[in-house]
Amino acid sequence: MAEETVFGKIVSGEIPVDLLAETDRVIAFRDMHPQAPIHFLVIPKSTEYANVVELAAGDPETLAEMVTVAKQLAEEHANGEFRLIFNSGESAGQTVFHVHAHVLAGGLEERSLVGS
Ligand code: 5GP
Repeated sequence: MAEETVFGKIVSGEIPVDLLAETDRVIAFRDMHPQAPIHFLVIPKSTEYANVVELAAGDPETLAEMVTVAKQLAEEHANGEFRLIFNSGESAGQTVFHVHAHVLAGGLEERSLVGS
């Protein structure tokens, strides 16, 4: 079990967010500091996995579901095209150690990376 994080508190409802999508295994909501016109986060409800490498090894179906939800959100909120970013490790810019996908869309031509 990973240490409790802010996303664990969002999953448990302790920190309220407006959900954009929810499946049995995954939720999505807006990033509080958007880096693009559309900047959503897709996270597993499980608090077991700190990063995408752990999730891919331990629960690849949930990782696939995160990608599916990202695609659905990009279709609902943009033209269906999107950038999917998993910061993995502190030196790569990860600040929350509950695996999450950044879904970015809209006006990306001028932007390179989340957090830069
Ligand atoms: P990381 O840097 O770990 O890849 O991304 C963490 C992201 O979570 C950041 O972009 C940050 O803005 C976002 N974030 C952190 N805390 C909260 C929160 O309480 N609510 C929301 N909606 N986003 C958060």
